[in-house]
Amino acid sequence: MSVCRFCEIYERKEGIIYENELFFAQYDKFPVSPGHTEIIPIRHTISLFDLGMQEVYLQHKAIFDVKRIIENTDLNQIYKQMLREPISQSSRYFCHRAIRHKPTKPDGYNIGINEGRAAGRTIDHLHTHIIPRYVGDVEDPIGGIRNVIPGMGDYRNIKF
Ligand SMILES: [Zn+2]
Repeated sequence: MSVCRFCEIYERKEGIIYENELFFAQYDKFPVSPGHTEIIPIRHTISLFDLGMQEVYLQHKAIFDVKRIIENTDLNQIYKQMLREPISQSSRYFCHRAIRHKPTKPDGYNIGINEGRAAGRTIDHLHTHIIPRYVGDVEDPIGGIRNVIPGMGDYRNIKF
């Protein structure tokens, strides 16, 4: 068995919701929001910048395909199922939170990669986060991914 968590998931074929020739996807066990999915290259590779052009294409194809899956899935059922055998107490908390949200079809998405430890990567196997967003899920979503550095989301109204 592999020592890499994502390689192991692929070898065991556990919880895989999508697969193309070079990528697979699973629902994140610690969902930031209902439907949070990770798109992962089958080949063990750490960085986005190690991908070949065919992989770049299939990574993006996976994003398009996974969006469709998320939007046609009863997400409540997904988290109820995860809660039957939660991988940790922390995962249980995140899944309960996702169910409390009573998810419907997403209103938007944040799509991103934590490229490097400095950017917050915790698993050294490339993965693209697909994070569905719902109107009202946070008080003010302005700036979206700019909020990875707190306070830097809204660039329009800075007072000098
Ligand atoms: Zn791996």
